[in-house]
Amino acid sequence: MSDEANPFESLQEQIDDAAAHLDVREDVLERLKHPERILETNLTIELDDGSLETFKAFRSQFNGDRGPYKGGIRYHPGVSRDEVKALSGWMVYKTAIVDIPYGGGKGGIVIDPREYSDAEVERVTRSFATELRPIIGENKDIPAPDVNTGQREMNWIKDTYEKLENTTAPGVITGKALDSGGSAGRVEATGRSTMLTAREAFQYLGKDIEGASVAVQGYGNAGSVAARLIEEELDGRVVAVSDSSGAIYNEDGFDAAAAKDHKDETGSVTGFEGAEEELTNEELLTLDVDLLVPAALENAIDADIAEDVRADVVVEAANGPITPDADDILTESEVEVFPDILANAGGVTVSYFEWVQNRQRFYWTEERVNDELERVITEAFDALTDAYEENDLSNFRTAAYVVAIRRVVDAFQQGGSWP
Ligand code: GLU
Repeated sequence: MSDEANPFESLQEQIDDAAAHLDVREDVLERLKHPERILETNLTIELDDGSLETFKAFRSQFNGDRGPYKGGIRYHPGVSRDEVKALSGWMVYKTAIVDIPYGGGKGGIVIDPREYSDAEVERVTRSFATELRPIIGENKDIPAPDVNTGQREMNWIKDTYEKLENTTAPGVITGKALDSGGSAGRVEATGRSTMLTAREAFQYLGKDIEGASVAVQGYGNAGSVAARLIEEELDGRVVAVSDSSGAIYNEDGFDAAAAKDHKDETGSVTGFEGAEEELTNEELLTLDVDLLVPAALENAIDADIAEDVRADVVVEAANGPITPDADDILTESEVEVFPDILANAGGVTVSYFEWVQNRQRFYWTEERVNDELERVITEAFDALTDAYEENDLSNFRTAAYVVAIRRVVDAFQQGGSWP
């Protein structure tokens, strides 16, 4: 990734852009640009054939001024120290913009889980949980799913932690299966916040979402749920979706849920019968659509692609999909970008609801979860647009950081420094 943007530098640039509009001391701001601590560890497990393999893993605890560190754990060959640092920082500002009482953290293991058996993935996960045990806890640091992890891995981490601690502590991790203390609505929550952000964004901009053409890059949990809900709840028209094997397109729109079923059956969205044409990922990103939803990994839209983006509105379901250079180009060409720290915050918000339910041992209906999520996202959206207007800002990302940084700084200053 030599000529790719370094996500950690992107985070720092985003903070600096917002700081120019905030009355925050330089030294206070400097603190907000670096993680408080990082665990780096090497996990050695026995593979099914009896040989040993070692996997590098990280957990970054970026900032805890507003509450316990919070954020997912990803399994991906591209995981690096700087990526985890960036992702943990984005969590700080994500929990702050939606105003839930957490700081930010993130973890990752350098592994392509598809190349290992389920038993091997379980051993790596339990090994990581053992390393994490001293630094996580219901009041300390609460991991969750991220790219290539889900309920299964969360259940294993909870089980390992509880066995080693000789206790029950379901709130040590979120994103669990329902029978292991998970929350209704958690699996859908990230995509739901993307749909809600798109709804609010179109309304704010005076545009009609009904019938609007939508392209979604990345068709994992976030992208596929966002696409389905934009169709089902907003009557948007999903015309293109993609995954790592390619993209599919139909100008009239197609059934987003059926495309997901096709992916689950065949491993890819390509070859879906509802599509008319196959495109490359880059062609999808530069389609002339009303709404573009990047829902894969960081740096999907760099400066070169940004020059050709023709969407009117971009709502980020992935973390960090637009590089700072690309952001400048999109601002210049008046593409309205609604940032990740709001648009995918549904995941961590319903994680918060899960943690509240775990601690009360009292569980909510899915309807209550979705209603509370809608309230949180619309309130955050209003805070963001208020900051955008009050400060006469040129883009919504900077507005989100203005709100979020102010909240983190207030918490820090109210606590004071010690010793
Ligand atoms: N990994 C998700 C994110 O990036 C969810 C984190 C959480 O639920 O703590 O926001």
